[in-house]
Amino acid sequence: MSDSEHNILIIYTGGTIGMQPSDSGFTASKGFEQLLKDHLSENQYAQLENSTILELDQPIDSSNATPNDWYKIAKCIANNYQTYTAFIVLHGTDTMAYSACALHYLLGCNIKPVVFSGSQIPLSQAASDAHKNITDAVAFAKHSQLNQVAISFNGKLFSALRATKVHTSDFSAFNSPNAQPLASIDKHTQEIHFIDKPSTAKQTCNKTLTTSNLNKLVTKPPKDKVGVLLLHPCISNQVIEATFDNPNTQAVVMLSYGAGNPPDENRYLLNSLKKARERGVVILNKSQCFQGSVAQGNYAVGSALNELGVTSAQDRTLEDLVTDLYINF
Ligand code: ASP
Repeated sequence: MSDSEHNILIIYTGGTIGMQPSDSGFTASKGFEQLLKDHLSENQYAQLENSTILELDQPIDSSNATPNDWYKIAKCIANNYQTYTAFIVLHGTDTMAYSACALHYLLGCNIKPVVFSGSQIPLSQAASDAHKNITDAVAFAKHSQLNQVAISFNGKLFSALRATKVHTSDFSAFNSPNAQPLASIDKHTQEIHFIDKPSTAKQTCNKTLTTSNLNKLVTKPPKDKVGVLLLHPCISNQVIEATFDNPNTQAVVMLSYGAGNPPDENRYLLNSLKKARERGVVILNKSQCFQGSVAQGNYAVGSALNELGVTSAQDRTLEDLVTDLYINF
């Protein structure tokens, strides 16, 4: 496809990229299209040729994002799916990985490119990373090889399901600790190098934008359908009880130690897991380690989990687990 045949829908949802300073710190604000006109160079702006900017009604700091926002973005893409060749979602970095995973589960894969991006410094401020992140996202979105939801940040492209925010301020805000990035872009030539072969990506991905995905856009489960329990040496029974004794909660991601180890001498925890499993709650055991996979039962402390029917989350990200359980379970 030649450059002029691409038409990209750029959806601005808020986040640092379009924020303005205020007395209480940076705040999400409207008027993103004008910001682009004011702050991109002529050459950078020319790269947005054939793109349409769509600003969501109320731009937000993504720390305030809820499933409502995921569904709003997904509906926007579904409604415009036939009109555009690709989609860019400009989003706050704080919960970008959650929204990108949610979009994956709502839209499927083997889809037109959906590229999330944002920045660590607002477009309106000096030395911002926004300009480069926008033009990189456009370049990645023009690649028909990309058939899934991905996050583009600081010259790298990550699969939504593998990405996580790893730095509060560095321009390399995202990484995929348990997987290679999908692609990278040359700083000078803007040439894209795909690390994963496209055929492999297609084979492992068999969901497409179908009616059944779109039906998921209609019914939204309660927010507390999925719980997350962080195990730590000072954990109280009250916290454990609050996580498991909620009748709305159908699934819990338990963040355990190392290879998936819980404190098996904590009888209150083990008993709560048992009772929750008996009433059908799915429990996924994710390691608190930044890298590596759960090997549940490698240690005696972890083998009780196998008996209780707790499932290993392998090396999946928390963002992937929470959105998958919320949308699909
Ligand atoms: N708090 C901001 C947000 O997530 C941070 C950012 O965009 O980088 O919306």
